Amino acid sequence: MALRRQAEDRMRQVLRTFRYREVQTPAFEELELFLAKSGPSIRDELYDFKDKSGRELCLRPELTAPVMRFYFSEMTREPKPLRLFYIGPCYRYDRPQAGRYREFWQVGVEVIGDESPESHAELLWLALNLFRAAGLETLVFRVGHLGILRSVLADVGGIPLDQQAPLMRLIDKRELPELEAAVRARGGAWDRLAPFFHAQTFEDLEALTMPGPAQEGVGHLRALFKTLAGFGADLSKVRLDPMIARGLEYYTGLVFELDCPDLGAEKQLLGGGAYDLSGLFGAQPVATVGFALGFDRTLVALERTARLPPIEERVDALVAALADGARPAAQALANRLRNEGQVVELDLSGRPPKKALARADQIKARQAYLVGDRELARGVVTVKDLDTGDQQERPLHT
Ligand code: AMP
Repeated sequence: MALRRQAEDRMRQVLRTFRYREVQTPAFEELELFLAKSGPSIRDELYDFKDKSGRELCLRPELTAPVMRFYFSEMTREPKPLRLFYIGPCYRYDRPQAGRYREFWQVGVEVIGDESPESHAELLWLALNLFRAAGLETLVFRVGHLGILRSVLADVGGIPLDQQAPLMRLIDKRELPELEAAVRARGGAWDRLAPFFHAQTFEDLEALTMPGPAQEGVGHLRALFKTLAGFGADLSKVRLDPMIARGLEYYTGLVFELDCPDLGAEKQLLGGGAYDLSGLFGAQPVATVGFALGFDRTLVALERTARLPPIEERVDALVAALADGARPAAQALANRLRNEGQVVELDLSGRPPKKALARADQIKARQAYLVGDRELARGVVTVKDLDTGDQQERPLHT
C-alpha cells in the first residue's frame, strides 16, 4: 500500500499541476448506463445485480460514463474547458490473468469543451508526465484518428460507413488476413486500402487520403505532434498508428494507446481518445477527450522493469519515556511535534536509553527524544540526531 499510495500521490500531484479537478462517483451505477454506451453484449463483462428494490445495477467497468453522467447532471454550467480527473476501482467479469484483474484501479481524465490539437497534445503530455511521476519511462505512444480511418475505408476502400463496424473490430485486433477477406467479401478495394494500414509517416497518410475529413484529420495530427514536441516530448516514443479503432461508436477523431514494451500480452497501460457521449443523456453535443490509465498494470510494469521506486516513509522522531514518571512529559512532547506535522513514534514502555536508541535506528528516525527522571528534574529532554550522532539537551517546554 505504501508503494501504491506513493505512486497515486505523485500522479494526483501532477494532475493538480495541470489544473485538473478531482471527481468521485459511486462504485455502482445503473446497468442501463453501460448498456446504452457499449451495447447489450457488454453485460457479459459486468458484475450486474438487482438491489432489494429490483433496480438493475452493476459495478462500474470504467469511469468515463459515470463521470459524464455526473457532468451532464451537475456541471454543464461550469466554464469550459473543464478538466476533470478520477482515481478509483473498476470491476470487470474478465478471466483473471497476469495484468488482468476483476477489480483494478484506473487513473483517468476527461477534458470537456476543447477539441483543439493543442489541447489534445497537452493531454498526451499529461499522460507521459503521469508515468514519469510513477517512475516509468519505457513507453510507446501510438496515435491514430478515426475520422481518417472511416474516410479512407469509405473513399479509398469503397466500404460505406454503415458497413464498417465489423471491419473496425478486425482492424483493432490487427487481424489483417481476416480483414482482407472481409473487405473483399463486401466488394471493397483491398489493394488500394492495404497500404494505409502500413502508413508510418504524415507523408504516407497524405498520399493515401483525399481532401475532406481525412486530410483534416491528418492536419489535426500534424498540429498535435508539433505542439507535443513544443512541450519537450521525446517524439521517438510517439508513433502514428492508423490501426487503432478502439471498438466504440462514440469516438469522434483522435484515438491513442500507450504500451510498455517490457510487458507481455497485457502491455497496454493506457487508452483514450476524443468522443461525444451527449447522445446518451439527451444533451447538446459537447466535444470531449479523455484517457484511462491502468494503475495496477503500471505498478506491474515498474516491478518487471525493476524500476519500483524506494518507499519514502519519513520518520521524524522517536519520543521515549525512560521512566513511568516521564510519561506525561513524553506524551506532551509527542503531541507538540505531531501538531507541527512531524511523524513521531511514541515509546512509553520505559525501556533503557540504549534500547530506545536502537529502536530509533531500526525505524530510521531522524531524531530521538529521550525523557527520563534525570531530565525531568532539570526540565530538559535529551535529543540525539541520528544522522550526525550529535547529542544535546534542550529545554522540555519550548
Ligand atoms: P479500457 O477502459 O479498456 O480502455 O482500459 C484502460 C486501461 O485500464 C487499459 O489500458 C489497462 O491498462 C487497464 N485495464 C483494463 N482492463 C483491466 C483489467 N481487467 N485489469 C487490470 N487493468 C485493466
